[in-house]
Amino acid sequence: MYIAVTGGIGCGKTTVVNEFRRIGLPCFVADEVAGAYYNDPGFVRQVAELFDEEILLPDGSADKRTIARIVFSSPEKLARLNALIHPRVWDDFEAFATRHRSSPYVIFESAIAYEYGFDRKVDRVVCVYLNREERLRRLEQRDHATRQQLEQRMRNQLSAEEKMLRADYVVLNYEGNPRARQVMHIHKQLLADSKTLIQ
Ligand code: ADP
Repeated sequence: MYIAVTGGIGCGKTTVVNEFRRIGLPCFVADEVAGAYYNDPGFVRQVAELFDEEILLPDGSADKRTIARIVFSSPEKLARLNALIHPRVWDDFEAFATRHRSSPYVIFESAIAYEYGFDRKVDRVVCVYLNREERLRRLEQRDHATRQQLEQRMRNQLSAEEKMLRADYVVLNYEGNPRARQVMHIHKQLLADSKTLIQ
């Protein structure tokens, strides 16, 4: 069974996924995997071919800041880049899931599971929720970014409330809320779900 863990940036996906990892579930972090593609010269070449601008640094590696600037200003170029990355991420996730097939379920962590239709490829979605103000506060500390930069990043995503409404399970990640207990509760539900799915 495939389980997506999603939620708005800064809501605490990473910390929630770590709880699942602590229970012993295999966890695939889409962002990390996609980021590592840039170490593959073949991939970097493919990305370079997508754009009419130079995106290679003198040492042949990809200039991620330039790529970010290009895709940020052009939805069409962002879509092209996504069309290159997302199918590869999904193939890698399926290979990962196959390697862990003895586990009752595997976790797919992605901030943009809904935005790019991964929700339709998984069996259940867990959304980590935290209101916008609190997320901004945590991100200012974590990323040392300005409010304006953070709000811009958030604008490309569905609202946290919309994600929560669509999800099968929700973790409310307010400070002081018992996160481990919420995750354990969802874990038990997921184990029950996995039995009904198999039947
Ligand atoms: P995401 O992966 O969703 O972007 P993170 O898991 O990195 O979010 O969490 C964002 C920030 O908030 C991090 O600095 C993290 O340490 C902090 N954080 C996460 N959960 C809590 C919590 N329950 N209480 C206080 N701080 C938290």
